[in-house]
Amino acid sequence: MEPFKPLVMEGEQAELLLLDNRGIGAGVTAGFTTRHAGNTALHVGDDAAAVVGRRRHIANRLGWDYTAWTCAEQIHGSSVHIVRKQDAGRGSLDRGSAIPDTDAMITDESDILLVQYFADCVPLYFEDSVTGALGLAHAGWKGTVVDIVRETLRQMTETYGTNPADVKAAVGPSIGSCCYEVDETVIRHVRRIAATEGVLTPTSDDRARLDLKELNRHLMIKAGILPSRIEMSTWCTGCRTEVFFSHRKENGSTGRMMSWLGRKSR
Ligand SMILES: [Zn+2]
Repeated sequence: MEPFKPLVMEGEQAELLLLDNRGIGAGVTAGFTTRHAGNTALHVGDDAAAVVGRRRHIANRLGWDYTAWTCAEQIHGSSVHIVRKQDAGRGSLDRGSAIPDTDAMITDESDILLVQYFADCVPLYFEDSVTGALGLAHAGWKGTVVDIVRETLRQMTETYGTNPADVKAAVGPSIGSCCYEVDETVIRHVRRIAATEGVLTPTSDDRARLDLKELNRHLMIKAGILPSRIEMSTWCTGCRTEVFFSHRKENGSTGRMMSWLGRKSR
């Protein structure tokens, strides 16, 4: 069953998909926006004031103060940033103040809303049920093959003492293998990092369909998360362009949706 469920107000198309409580513990909010919430990113040539207006609207709907909104400049790498109280609000109003060069954020602070931006790449959510530490990561094929999953968990362990066996994780809406054919270069990197059964389906001598969600699930298990504690979204951003922005289906010219993860102190 799909763990990301539409939150619909009367008469509207869903702007927000909430990760249900199989995927995340009490007091934690997590989810993903749809294209009905509009473009949420400042780096795609959209009007900045309009983007910030949409973000404030989303924060309101989530019942969060916009000052908690915290984000990073994503570069398809594996750097993990430890988000502390003083980072709250970074990147919320302008790109200049965003945490630089970071594709994963972890925190054990309450009242910080970790936010990342997507159009086809895979959003990954982590919650340590014992320590309460949270992690949010952005994994396109590049971030996946440099194992941002392992890096995020390693930093959670180093910083908060996280045992991967205590972690609940979710793989969010993103491009499915149905819509994601890749070339030899990508195939080579994928083969290097994981067993490819159920991950790569050859379509010709040098091309294959890649299941990025499944590959990240493999890497989560390899890093010590229990298969029973991983929730997988079935939404494909490529198949459902009436619901999602898709970088691939819309030829690179499109908006960005956001993932969010945070815990409130009250
Ligand atoms: Zn698809």
